Amino acid sequence: MAKILLLALVVAAVLLLMRGFGRRRPPAGGGAAADESMVRCAHCGVHLPKGESLAVDGRYFCSEQHRSEAGRPR
Ligand SMILES: [Zn+2]
Repeated sequence: MAKILLLALVVAAVLLLMRGFGRRRPPAGGGAAADESMVRCAHCGVHLPKGESLAVDGRYFCSEQHRSEAGRPR
């Protein structure tokens, strides 16, 4: 019985450690806090945080739909 409790404790400790390391790692795709500048959608002109925009060839878009609509040749 003591062995099972010990095993459970070890598993719990490993899970907590893994969670801790996961939190410490910087989020993929750039830090949101360091990128607070606003950009303008090249299609509809709406302003949105750079971190939430889609950047294509130096232009920014508010959504995937506007990116594809603006990229489509007329
Ligand atoms: Zn837009």
